[in-house]
Amino acid sequence: MTLTVQPHRESVGLKAGRLLIDGQWGPAREGATWTHHHPATGEPIGEFASGSAADVDDAVAAARRAFDSGAWPSTRAGQRIALLHRYADLLRAHADELRALQALDNSVPLSFGGIYATSVGAAADVFDHHAGWVDKLGGQTLPPYQGGDHLAMTFREPIGVVAAVLPWNAPFLLFAQKVAPALAAGCTVVLKPSEYCTFSVLRMVELLVEAGLPDGVLNVVTGPGDPVGEALITHPDVDKVSFTGSWAVGKRIVEASAGTLKRVSLELGGKSPALVFGDAPNVGLAAATVVGAVTMGLSGQACVANTRALVHREVYDEFLGAAQGMAAAITYGDPFDAGVVSAPLINERQLERVLGYIERGKSEGRLVTGGERLGGELAAGNFVAPTIFADVDNSATIAQEEIFGPVLAVVPFSDEEEAVALANDTQYGLGAGLFTADVQRAFRVSRRLRAGTVGINGFQIEPHLPFGGFKQSGLGREGGQSAIEAYTELKSVFLPLTEEMM
Ligand code: NAD
Repeated sequence: MTLTVQPHRESVGLKAGRLLIDGQWGPAREGATWTHHHPATGEPIGEFASGSAADVDDAVAAARRAFDSGAWPSTRAGQRIALLHRYADLLRAHADELRALQALDNSVPLSFGGIYATSVGAAADVFDHHAGWVDKLGGQTLPPYQGGDHLAMTFREPIGVVAAVLPWNAPFLLFAQKVAPALAAGCTVVLKPSEYCTFSVLRMVELLVEAGLPDGVLNVVTGPGDPVGEALITHPDVDKVSFTGSWAVGKRIVEASAGTLKRVSLELGGKSPALVFGDAPNVGLAAATVVGAVTMGLSGQACVANTRALVHREVYDEFLGAAQGMAAAITYGDPFDAGVVSAPLINERQLERVLGYIERGKSEGRLVTGGERLGGELAAGNFVAPTIFADVDNSATIAQEEIFGPVLAVVPFSDEEEAVALANDTQYGLGAGLFTADVQRAFRVSRRLRAGTVGINGFQIEPHLPFGGFKQSGLGREGGQSAIEAYTELKSVFLPLTEEMM
C-alpha cells in the first residue's frame, strides 16, 4: 500500500500560505508561489507565497515604522506581559492543531511532537518565561566616579528591527526562542520561516495576531533563502539578524552583517559527543539515549544530537549491542500514526547528502547496522535506516562533519584524558553528554568540555537555561537573561546635579 497523508491535509484544513505585512495577509508582490512536497510521501501538500526582495522591502519598512513611530517599543510592561501570556495560552489551546500542521510540514511524527523540547508546550513556556523579563529589563544607577554631584545611569533600549530566520526542524521552539525575547524587549520583527516548514509557523503567527499584537510589529515573508533570506540579512534597515540554521548560512550572515554592522545571534550546527565511561550507571540506557537522539523524531536532523559516541573500551561491546537493539526498534511511516517514532529526511538534497556520507563511512568505519534507504511502502519518501558505524577514527569525515541524518559514529577510548581530547577535537561546540556514576568525574569533565550545554546522564532543553554554542556552533545564547539582553542596546545617561558640573 502506498503511504499518503492527503486525508490528514483535508482534516487539518490546510490553507494556502500568504505573507503578513503591516497587519495585512496577502500574496507575494510578483504572485509567485512555492509548492511544498511532503518528505514522507512526495505528495504536494500546499502552496504558499514565495516572496521577493520587494516583499522584504515592504516588510522591513512596516517593521521600521512600527519601531520608529509605533507604540510597541514604549508599550507599558504590564500590557506587553499580558499579551505574551495570552499568546502562550492560545498556543497551548491549539497544540494539537499545530502538531498536525508540523506533521504535514516536516513529517515529525505526532508521537515526537509531544516530547518537551519540540512541543508546542515548550514554545508556550518560552513566551511565559520572556514575559517574566519585561518588567525586569532595567539598567543601573552608578555612584559618581569623580567630579561634582551627578547621576550616571544605564538603560536597556530595544535593539530595533530584528530579522528572524528559522530552520525547518523545530518550528515551535525556535519561533519562540526568537520572537518571544524580541517582542518582550520591545523590538519589531520580520520573520522568515524555512521553505520546508512554513504552514505550522504561519498558524503560530495567526495566533499572535489573534492575541492582539499591533500591526507591523511582526511581519512574515515566506520563501527560499535566496532571495528572501538574502534580502533580509543584507537589508540596511535591519538592526539585528537572529538566525538558527546551518554553519554555511551562519557564516554568510556574519559576512553580510559587515555592511551595516548588524548585531547577529547565531544558533548553528554541531557534532556533539556523548562520552560513555566504564562506570556509566547503565550502559544499555546510555546507548538507547544516544541512538534515540540520533534516530528518533527528527531522524538525526537535530542540531544537538549526540552524533559521536565516544565509548570506553571496557563497555564498548555492551554499548554496541544495545545501540543495535535500539536502532532496530525505530519505526517509520505515516507521521499521524501513533506507532511511528521517526521521520524521513527533509528533502531529496538532504537524502543524497546523507547517503553520500554513508558511502564514505563504509571506508572510514565498520558498518554495524543500517546504511541504506528504506523501500517498500516508504520508497516515495526520503527515509534512511538508522545507521551505526563502529571503530571510527575521530579524524574521519563522518566523525567531524555534521551529517544531519540518522548516522552515529562510535569511537573507542581508553581513559578520561583521551575522552576529553577526542570530545574537544571538533570545530563545533554545541552540546555534549556524559554517562558516568562518578560525580567528581562528571563535574571535572563537564568543565573541560568546550560545549555550550553538557548533559550528565541525560539532557533536556529548558526555557530559562541558556542554549547555544562554543566555537563554530554559534554566537550568543537563547533562553534566560542573556537571551533577552541580546535584543537590547545598553545606553548610558549622564545628569549633573549641580551647576559646576554642567
Ligand atoms: P539552513 O541554513 O539551510 O536554512 C535555515 C534558514 O536559512 C532557512 O529559512 C533558509 O531558507 C535560510 N537561508 C538559506 N540561505 C540563506 C541566505 N543566503 N541568507 C539568509 N537566509 C538563508 O538550515 P536548515 O536545513 O533549515 O536547518 C538545519 C541546520 O540548522 C543544521 O545545521 C542544524 O544543526 C541547525 N540548527 C541549529 C539549532 C541550534 O539551536 N543551534 C537548532 C536547529 C537547527
